[in-house]
Amino acid sequence: MVTTEANPTPPSSSQKLPWICTPLIESDSLSKVAGCRVHMKMDMFQPAGSFKSRGIGNYCLKAVRSRPNRPIRFYSSSGGLAAVTASRSLSQSATVIVPTTTTPLMKSKIQQAGGTVITHGASWSEADAHTRTLVEADPTGVYCPPFDAEDIWEGNKTLVDELIAQLAGEGQSLDAIILSVGGGGLLCGVQMGLLERGLGHVPLLAVEPEGAAGLAACLKADGLVELDGVTSIATSLGTRRVARRAFELACHGNVRSVVLSDAQATMGAVRLMDDERVAVEPACGISAAVVYDYVLKKVCPELGPGSNVVLVVCGGNSISAEMLAEYRKTYGHLDTPAATQAYTAN
Ligand SMILES: *Cc1c(COP(=O)(O)O)cnc(C)c1O
Repeated sequence: MVTTEANPTPPSSSQKLPWICTPLIESDSLSKVAGCRVHMKMDMFQPAGSFKSRGIGNYCLKAVRSRPNRPIRFYSSSGGLAAVTASRSLSQSATVIVPTTTTPLMKSKIQQAGGTVITHGASWSEADAHTRTLVEADPTGVYCPPFDAEDIWEGNKTLVDELIAQLAGEGQSLDAIILSVGGGGLLCGVQMGLLERGLGHVPLLAVEPEGAAGLAACLKADGLVELDGVTSIATSLGTRRVARRAFELACHGNVRSVVLSDAQATMGAVRLMDDERVAVEPACGISAAVVYDYVLKKVCPELGPGSNVVLVVCGGNSISAEMLAEYRKTYGHLDTPAATQAYTAN
């Protein structure tokens, strides 16, 4: 088993760690709705705008360390902004291969961060196949996967190290964690961190959208299965098959699978903006919706007023003031618990 250095030193003076220690902030508005203490782990502050700076950052850091004094170009087809941002902090370069469906907003963010963008193929799998061809042809090329790698999980594990130290600093224990699941890299890191610390009893709410609930499908089938397709608006969670390790780790009794609608995901993002002045993707809003739509109480009836729940504000870059306004226009009529519950029941 790999050991994690909570704060590994960067390999040289021209390089810096691709991720930061983020604040843990107690939210009055979320706590009031939840009936317990809700703390936001503010990973949208990471250099790449999401927790991916940890996992993909650590993956890139390990690659640089294993090839000292040799330049690297990272190639990524998913989680590209994190790969670009990490490569920059390590004084390396990165190319991101995206399908034609990728929005101009995301492409320009990748370019502004210093990455090279190549548009190839109509789907992620076509873009990814091209990515692997490019890596083979480039002697400095290193493939950067989005979620299914030990070094990624090890990086994501730093989130647990931090939040436990932060809660302990206030004399508090950890009673539940809420996080979003795409391919399950975040889930792997967090669950590995909990298990290593003997915290395998702490409820971990693994939240997915209808139309991209790959982990829920695996748990139901009691085996690793692949979705026929993905349809959710939460595109960062749109993975047809989760990592095998994520499925295995989710079979542990503390993991509670939660599936919510796109309407809930978008309204979670809108309400985080209104209540906490925090801009995140629906992929992150869906975890906040677990609190806003009273799902937390149903899934974790054991929580009381003094319990500490950590909401992982995983972040995401595919968001703007315009998109939030659009979400409110489309789904705002559902912005009451009764309305969303009725919507979900249909
Ligand atoms: C990548 C991403 C996820 C999903 O992470 P996995 O490790 O693939 O489960 C969730 N939220 C945001 C904002 C992301 O960028």
